[in-house]
Formats: sequence, structure tokens, C-alpha cells
Amino acid sequence: MTGPLLEVDGLTKHYPLVAGLFKTNVPAVRALENVSFSVAAGETFCIVGESGCGKSTLARLLMRLVDPTSGRVLVEGTDIAGLKRHELRACRRRMQMVFQDPYSSLNPRLTAGQIITEPVENFERLGRKQRNELAAELLSKVGLSPEMMHRLPSEMSGGQRQRLGIARALALEPSLIIADEAVSALDVSVQAQILNLLMDLQKKMGIAYIFISHDLGVVEHIGHRVAVMYLGRIVELASCETLFAKPVHPYTEALIAAAPVPDPTRVRSEVPLEGEVPSPVNPPSGCAFHPRCPLAIDRCRVELPPLVPMSDGRVVACHVRAPSATADMPLTSLGTSPLGSVA
Ligand code: SF4
Repeated sequence: MTGPLLEVDGLTKHYPLVAGLFKTNVPAVRALENVSFSVAAGETFCIVGESGCGKSTLARLLMRLVDPTSGRVLVEGTDIAGLKRHELRACRRRMQMVFQDPYSSLNPRLTAGQIITEPVENFERLGRKQRNELAAELLSKVGLSPEMMHRLPSEMSGGQRQRLGIARALALEPSLIIADEAVSALDVSVQAQILNLLMDLQKKMGIAYIFISHDLGVVEHIGHRVAVMYLGRIVELASCETLFAKPVHPYTEALIAAAPVPDPTRVRSEVPLEGEVPSPVNPPSGCAFHPRCPLAIDRCRVELPPLVPMSDGRVVACHVRAPSATADMPLTSLGTSPLGSVA
């Protein structure tokens, strides 16, 4: 494979609101606006932002669980919008999801072994021996004892259930796992175990992750690159190292300043993040962050800032911090992985 594993090009999703007896169309919920990035094989691409910023809508669009209003998702160069049902099923073998709540995402009536082997049996028939061997192998891979294949999810702890969810995602040997708030429901010590497990699996199997989280500490620990989203748009995209060393967009700066820091010697700038995320039905004009931004100028209220490439490889959408006149890199580099393609 020479190109990126996944390319997202101008992805937009509006949910039209239908109200009243006569189903009069009213403005749409603008869940996602013109989102573009690419993910290389073996890369961890993180997406962060407050609730309602469009992270989970993006995950559903990537799996084609919903269709976009406009824009494209290309998996290994193939636009998934044009795939027939059987082709989409084959494509989904390559892309799996791990969900936030391990309990509600597992069938409570099936044993761990049945849960793990079920995705494979959707594609091929397995004998009893094959099924048990596969379940034992996958349970071992995620650090669970093969004897646990006979247990129900209700007989497992939260961390064990999330490991089981990961084992199920691994069953089809995917190239990409979309982890939507995969550790946020877990205790901190269990979170660390699951994150280390994901990173080990990546080293051994070359899996790419799209890691969706509101927890910046987790993202800094696990990510290669990170996209910061605000009200359906990417406002800053950079390597994790670059972004956490020096955030440029005022929203990124405020998010990082608001995150708890376990290291008392580490100094972070004091940038208050006040107010609520505005409604995606009626987003503010110009830069959607302007009602909460301490740096807002008149231009911000009327003109949408474009994503501008900076000399350190990041892209930022801000009239003050990244005015387009200072752009010193071609836009062709926007959102591409520094890992390139490793598969
Ligand atoms: Fe703040 Fe203006 Fe930059 Fe938006 S464009 S983040 S309002 S300074």
C-alpha cells in the first residue's frame, strides 16, 4: 500500500430538523462541517473537543453508519460511498469500533467466547475446535485468561469487559480501529492498562487508531497526531508533541489549560474557557468560537478563518494567531501524517 490508509475529504453532515404537523423544514443541526484529514497505517490519530463538537458523528460517518451530506471517506483509496452492500461488509472487516460503555456494547446473553467469534462467523463458518482456539488466542492477546471464554459479560469487571470489546474488534484483523471514548468509563488505573494494551497491539500488529476522547491527558499519552474540533470543524491539527508543547488556537490553549496536570512542576498558561458550546442549529457567524474567545477582533465575527499551514507542520484556523498572510507552507500538506504510509 502506498497511499494513506484513510482519507477524509471535506466531510459534512447536517441533520435537517423537521417540526410541526406539516413537517415544515427548519434549519439543520450542523454536526460536521468540511472536515479533512488522513490517517497512515500504524498511526494513532486523536480527535478531541467538548461534547457536541461532532466527534461521534465523525466516527459514525467513517463507518458509514450514516451517510454524509457532502464529502468523501476513502479507505485505501476507495470511496466507501460507492460500495455495494457486500463490498461495504468486506470494507468493514478492515475497520472496527471499540465503544465507550463496554457493558452495553456486549450482548449480555452470549459468553465471552461467542462474543469474540461472532464477527468472524458472520463471514465464515467455524467448527467448535476452531472457535475455541480463536477465542483463546484473542483472549490471550488482550491479556485475559482463555478460561474466561465461558463467562458472561456480567461476570466480568469493567476493565475485563473493555478488553473483551477490544478482542472482538481484533477478531477480523482490522487495519483501523475507531475507539470512541474507549477508556472514559473506566477507573484511572484500568484506563492505563487499556491504553498500554492498545499501544502494544499497535506495535505488534501495525493497527491504526482513530482515538476519540475529551481527555487530553489520555490523548497526549497515546496519540501521534491530534485534531481539535469545535462545533463541527477542525480548528487545529498537529503532532501531539507540537500541540501539547505550544498550542496555537485559543480554544486548544484553553482546553489544555483547563485539563488537570499530574506534574506540579509543569506550568501551563491560564486561559479561562467560559460559557457553553453554542447550538449547532444556529452557530455564531464568522469564527464559531468568537463569543468565548478572549482574542476576538471584529473580523472574527464576520469571517470564517481558514485552516492555515504553519512552518512547524500544524494547521490552525484563527485570524489572530494564524492570519493567512503568514502562511508559509503549501496547502497540499494539510492534515497528512508525518508517519507517511508504513504498510
Ligand atoms: Fe478567537 Fe478570532 Fe481566532 Fe476565532 S479567529 S479563535 S475568535 S481570535
